[in-house]
Amino acid sequence: MSGKLFFFDLKNQYLQIRDEIESVLKHVCEDTAFSGGSYVAKFEKNFASFCGVNFAAGLNSGTSALHLSLLALGIKGGDEVIVPANTFIATAWAVSYVNAIPVFVDCSQDTWNIDPEKIEEKISSKTRAIIGVHLYGQPFDMDRVKSIAQKYNLYLIEDCAQSHGACYKGIRVGVFGEMGCFSFYPGKNLGAYGEAGAVITNNESYINRIKSLRNHGSIVRYYHDEVGFNMRMDGFQGAVLDIKLKYLDNWNNRRKQIARIYQKGITNTSIKMQYQPEWSESVYHLFVITVSKRDKLIEHLQKNNIFPGLHYPVPCHLQKAYSHLGYRTGDMPEAEYLSEHCLSLPMYPELTDDEVYRVIDLLNKWR
Ligand SMILES: *Cc1c(COP(=O)(O)O)cnc(C)c1O
Repeated sequence: MSGKLFFFDLKNQYLQIRDEIESVLKHVCEDTAFSGGSYVAKFEKNFASFCGVNFAAGLNSGTSALHLSLLALGIKGGDEVIVPANTFIATAWAVSYVNAIPVFVDCSQDTWNIDPEKIEEKISSKTRAIIGVHLYGQPFDMDRVKSIAQKYNLYLIEDCAQSHGACYKGIRVGVFGEMGCFSFYPGKNLGAYGEAGAVITNNESYINRIKSLRNHGSIVRYYHDEVGFNMRMDGFQGAVLDIKLKYLDNWNNRRKQIARIYQKGITNTSIKMQYQPEWSESVYHLFVITVSKRDKLIEHLQKNNIFPGLHYPVPCHLQKAYSHLGYRTGDMPEAEYLSEHCLSLPMYPELTDDEVYRVIDLLNKWR
């Protein structure tokens, strides 16, 4: 039997870029650019240009990016914000942080992203915004979601935490709504060596507000215009991210190659994969499949040294933290089905073809 394969692995990538990383970290120390500063500013500029927007604000996490974007839009207590039930919980946290109410919407049966058919029935007189999530690296149905947002005069925010560089109709995500929110958690397609995030936008007043909020509500030092936060990106993260950004397209292309190998190679008909509409170009942050006897398959894979992930075992509307909202099992059948049948196969740029075929062989032989 060969070595252990997890659904992600960060070590090999570090070894490839170690010299560059260690040298830039030394420069950050020598320049004592530890919090914010020139390395963060340089990354913000390069990341904005990578995404095709005018502005980016580096932050301490993707969760903060979502939180500050809602504050910048003036979302407040009593407002409602539409959020997919199938996402990482932080999408909903941001809504709760501003005392608004997350209103969950089920995902489509085939794309596993927010179902545009099910949004309108959740809109009330209190609804102010929709947060769409490009989940697992795959863009959601932007035209349809955006036209609903426009029809009801709602803000649209994109949660791009899993979709750095993914394209909708040939355009990189993050530019379609008011703001795009990114996470650079180490395991994301563009990952820091610690915690980090960013908001991108073409709207200068949003970015100025976010830059103030991240810095104690201050633009001129020690003059505080509003109650703010300490949510700045640290200098090491800005420096590491700026190095890694140069490689992101290559890494994403390798993920796409691996995805094609899985898509062609997996012939076991009990396994379903995320449907890719023709307008979507995923960057395959995760390679999720569903299968009826999920837990048995996991056992089988683990016996063969393959350790899949679960994204996610409990949909947002059934999390204990949101029990007060009164959702019940059965409210979001697709998200619930997914939570019980999903598993995430190994997916990272450094996987070799042989390793991918090893996973495929096990899946195809499994009954
Ligand atoms: C990772 C993630 C976040 C949160 O990002 P952090 O940097 O961990 O705070 C938000 N939304 C989604 C969809 C994510 O995957």
